[in-house]
Amino acid sequence: MSAWPKTNLGGVLAKLEKRYGSLAPPKLEGPFEMVLWEIVAYLADDAERAATFEVLRKRVGLTPKKILAAPIDVLAEITRMGGSIAYQDRAERLQIAAQLVMDQFGGDLASVLKLPAPKAKKLLRQFPMIGEPGAEKILLFCGVLDVLALESNGVRVLTRLGFGEEKKNYGATYKSVREVTLEELPGDSKKLTSAHLLLRRHGQEACLRSEPRCRGCVVAAECKHTHTRA
Ligand code: SF4
Repeated sequence: MSAWPKTNLGGVLAKLEKRYGSLAPPKLEGPFEMVLWEIVAYLADDAERAATFEVLRKRVGLTPKKILAAPIDVLAEITRMGGSIAYQDRAERLQIAAQLVMDQFGGDLASVLKLPAPKAKKLLRQFPMIGEPGAEKILLFCGVLDVLALESNGVRVLTRLGFGEEKKNYGATYKSVREVTLEELPGDSKKLTSAHLLLRRHGQEACLRSEPRCRGCVVAAECKHTHTRA
């Protein structure tokens, strides 16, 4: 893979890559599987989500037609494995998502990838549990978006490091981080996918929401967060 750019953020990502290695996204075929991946589990760790998704693959299948043909009780049994919160709602959401693909995308959500990014984002946001960051993540991981999509761990890490500012609401914080990343990173979806995964991992393993593990953090020298000086 090509080197990180010679910017402040590029330097941080090079250090994180040295620490965590080259991370690969989950093996998912296209945007519909990514939507199912989000819905099938809730507040589950990566291993639990992956295990639940595999049960969905084996017991039901991952096409809109198979999801729609499955008894709702079977879907609920599966979503319950991915977390007990709102598991029945999530079973219904699997079928709502499948029906949307049948009604609006001719049965194949991959068609959304051919649209201009703003239109594609808008259409993807119709799906249950997919907000703007989720829609951007789908487009980025599918290789058709060239800006850094982030989930909450990545946003927290970047604001603590001083790339963007913590604002009153999450949307404004996300926007301020976006302005910096657009300047500091290349428009290369593979590189940006890697950045997403490295920042997420750092947020999960070291830069925790409360009590970040700053001692031994590989990017402590670059960090503006007060914990680093505690
Ligand atoms: S030094 Fe602490 S707050 Fe800063 S990035 Fe590392 S873990 Fe996060």
